[in-house]
Amino acid sequence: MTRSYRHGRRSSSAHSKTALVVESLEVRACPTADLASGVAAALGHLDWDGQSVSVRQDSWIVRTEASLAAERLGLPAGWQSLRAAGAGAQDVLGWAARTAGVRYVEPDFAIAPNALPNDTSFSQLWGLHNIGQSGGVVDADIDAPDAWDTTTGSRNVVVAVIDTGVDYNHSDLTANVWRNAAEIAADGIDNDRNGFVDDVRGWDFANNDADPMDDAGHGTHVAGTIGAVGGNGVGVAGVNWQVSIMPLKFLGADGSGSTSAAIAALNYATRMRRDFGVNIVASNNSWGGGGFSTALRDAIDAGGRAGMLCVVAAGNEGTNNDTTPSYPGTSIITVAATDRSNRLASFSNFGSTGVDLAAPGVSIFSTVPGNSYASYSGTSMATPHVTGAVALLAAANPDATAPVTCGVAIDVPL
Ligand code: CA
Ligand code: CA
Repeated sequence: MTRSYRHGRRSSSAHSKTALVVESLEVRACPTADLASGVAAALGHLDWDGQSVSVRQDSWIVRTEASLAAERLGLPAGWQSLRAAGAGAQDVLGWAARTAGVRYVEPDFAIAPNALPNDTSFSQLWGLHNIGQSGGVVDADIDAPDAWDTTTGSRNVVVAVIDTGVDYNHSDLTANVWRNAAEIAADGIDNDRNGFVDDVRGWDFANNDADPMDDAGHGTHVAGTIGAVGGNGVGVAGVNWQVSIMPLKFLGADGSGSTSAAIAALNYATRMRRDFGVNIVASNNSWGGGGFSTALRDAIDAGGRAGMLCVVAAGNEGTNNDTTPSYPGTSIITVAATDRSNRLASFSNFGSTGVDLAAPGVSIFSTVPGNSYASYSGTSMATPHVTGAVALLAAANPDATAPVTCGVAIDVPL
């Protein structure tokens, strides 16, 4: 219901043309969601209560009395949104004082996520926000704070980290580790009947058990870049402040693994998305090596047909992926590494067709097992910046779809 109220004879002459339009106040639970859906109103500043405050321009909140509101204003009781084009605080306060049924009025203060998180080591994350720290080039980064004006991520978005596992107890990660709600821990029963017993937080395909704890460090570092808890006042922030990270371990303590275990991990993610409704939008694959595997390519393609993006590292051999393919680096989104001055990292593979884009991958500070942090370099570190961006996009636009790159239907074995 929208009703209009205009100043009548009670208005002062100086403001007699100011239109005050009162309308129902919309539900405003999540400012980031409003911004994401394009509802953001123009912002302005206003002198209020002795200070300059950020407000939605020409927008006020009015609380009306139950008894008088209907009678005098023709309005329902409660909070109403007041549009007052060009009105200052004195105009609106004067109107409120003169108008029976108005209990109080105040500016519609602008609410926005903090531009920067309060995590104590955030300043080290040049890849997210490069202000020239340690001699880098200002803005040689992924512009994370700009994206955070729209969304800082969502736990409804799941990312599979196919790696050495994840330290799911790390204080900067644990809240963002995926939990299989359909599985009961340690009861020896495959409660969700997906073929894996007690897989409450993913699976360890290196040791074939339900505990994907990281015994090498690499996967925990990757996970932190994608989604270390942001705004919790400690450590680092991921590209996503909140997200659900599914640890799928296939690399062992020595950092090596088999193609068959990698395929099994990819297939787990594909099946959980396709058959069990888990919203896995992407897998992060910061690994490579070995010869071309048709089976691995088929597993990646099956994930693509299920709507899951596969983000892979270009490789660290400093070679051209157009002429010396690094597998699975020629599939889906392949990521090279840049340094803090926007240069291709010396170790990074490259290629006009074999690589899709580059992301920060030199001296990347992130989580490592045991509530610790460390700087690593590699296309492995660049890849999760991209996977993280995919997850942010999915949080802001849940209906976005991933491109299908292969049209041949292939069964996904477990
Ligand atoms: Ca299960
Ligand atoms: Ca169980």
